[in-house]
Amino acid sequence: MKVIFLDLDKTLIGGDYSPEPGKGVVRALVEGGFEVVLNSSKTRFEQEYYREVWGLDSPFIVENGSAVYLPNTHFLVHVAGDFGLERENYRVIELGKSYSEIRAVLDSIRNKYGLKYYGNLSIDEVVEFTGLPRKLARLAMRREYSETVFQWLKRGFEAELEDRGFRVSRGSRFINITGDTDKGRAAKVLLDLYSSVEPVESFAVGDGPNDFPLFEVVDNAYIVGDLEHPKAKNISSVDELLEVVL
Ligand code: MG
Repeated sequence: MKVIFLDLDKTLIGGDYSPEPGKGVVRALVEGGFEVVLNSSKTRFEQEYYREVWGLDSPFIVENGSAVYLPNTHFLVHVAGDFGLERENYRVIELGKSYSEIRAVLDSIRNKYGLKYYGNLSIDEVVEFTGLPRKLARLAMRREYSETVFQWLKRGFEAELEDRGFRVSRGSRFINITGDTDKGRAAKVLLDLYSSVEPVESFAVGDGPNDFPLFEVVDNAYIVGDLEHPKAKNISSVDELLEVVL
């Protein structure tokens, strides 16, 4: 089978966060026989919104590799056996740290560094920092495994967080804090499950440094835009991806 991991921000979704432009791409991939797996820094609740619009029922990876969500209706749930935990309509394989653990540490150092993150902002401030529509901002604020630092008055908090066992990664504008995991580690867990059923050819598409660990674990990698990675081919947009893989 063919499994493709797709980043969301700046890959399938543009600056206005609309699901509409990505709809045709996702549909073409599904019709082309791909298992489409979203793999994003976005929360489970944000991804549920896009999955619903795009009609996806496949597994997905949330908050920069922090957890793999397997819908109970998906065949991999049976393959996973007792692996993971039950939550609502999902089996969840957790790889990161809980939000409460990350939040407690950030709360303890926020005054020292002047930190602003989802947890200490109002929804109006989140909308201002991110440009998210209010409805999606609300879903982004329901965090399970990571925080995003939008503003700081001085540096040094990154090293302090890393010393305490957290992973600090730079996005294009902000800084993301997770447990010791990444998009590649989570993708590998999922690929091992698929591969236990049948041979897999794997693909990944992303645009940022946080997609690099993902590129390392797949057979075919693509970067949207100008960033360079030794394993990945550059493409101008996800539409060009369809020309290459279908
Ligand atoms: Mg991105």
